[in-house]
Amino acid sequence: MANSILSARVLQNEAAAIAWVEARVWPEGPVCPHCGGVERIGKMQGKATRIGLYKCYQCRKQFTVKVGTVFEDSHVPMNIWLQAMYLLCSSKKGISSNQLSRTLGVTLKTAWFMSHRIREAMRVVGVEPMGGAGEVVEIDETLMGKVEGAPKKLRTGGSQNRNIVLTLVERGGRARSFHIDGMAIRDFMPIIRANVAKETRVNTDEGKHYNDLSKEFAGHDTVTHSADEYARYTNVHSFPEGKRYVISTNTVEGFYSIFKRGMKGVYQHCKEKHLHRYLSEFDFRYSNRVALGVDDVERTALAVKGIVGKRLTYR
Ligand SMILES: [Zn+2]
Repeated sequence: MANSILSARVLQNEAAAIAWVEARVWPEGPVCPHCGGVERIGKMQGKATRIGLYKCYQCRKQFTVKVGTVFEDSHVPMNIWLQAMYLLCSSKKGISSNQLSRTLGVTLKTAWFMSHRIREAMRVVGVEPMGGAGEVVEIDETLMGKVEGAPKKLRTGGSQNRNIVLTLVERGGRARSFHIDGMAIRDFMPIIRANVAKETRVNTDEGKHYNDLSKEFAGHDTVTHSADEYARYTNVHSFPEGKRYVISTNTVEGFYSIFKRGMKGVYQHCKEKHLHRYLSEFDFRYSNRVALGVDDVERTALAVKGIVGKRLTYR
């Protein structure tokens, strides 16, 4: 199809792709990654010169837009990087390395390497708190796979041999997920405190580990999963200003349903040490979803902005 996004010039042509990435990483013009200089920078010309090569005449060093980003040390052409980013940003449940390898025509090893770097670009840095006055943040946890090396079944049952994921979802907004060490209050509270504004009303299930939330936030309402489902929809409370809201954890449960379908259907072999990267990926797509006015191309542009300052070193 002539209008297919996949035929777009930035996805087909390396020079166009580099220019597109430069415009997002350097909105004000090139910045030297070695000395931070912006004044005396020249573009290297000539037939034998690499595309997108600059020289900083303050520190006399050369650079491209890849230096100091997750793309550094990669020989994959920029338009192939953008194809991979577009695919990962536009597939609701993610895209496996196998699929990426076939679609892009790169080796499985390269596809794996690329997808983990893209997840790193999607990772949120800095913790601007979620929620705020008149806002609801839903908090829940879920169990994912088995901890490596743990026995299949423990006599006591429970969560000791499972990976635990904690997720905070701003109703009508962003999601943040964390791979955490245990189910105790000490495992939950530091993360919740660091990520949710005090003025927020938090909604959770009746889990004991959420008991202290009422002391720390504007309000804490719980959903009783064991009670009649109907009660959850009629349980409407009001903020002091009069705005009404439903007590529920449906939003965070909806997030988990996408996450679990993706992890089960697409990423069948997620190692425990990489779980946080997949969480970044699902959080990123959720926090920049269509319902919030972000389309696939814009989401890709946001991921490109996230490549900066996040070099990853594998082996
Ligand atoms: Zn410089």
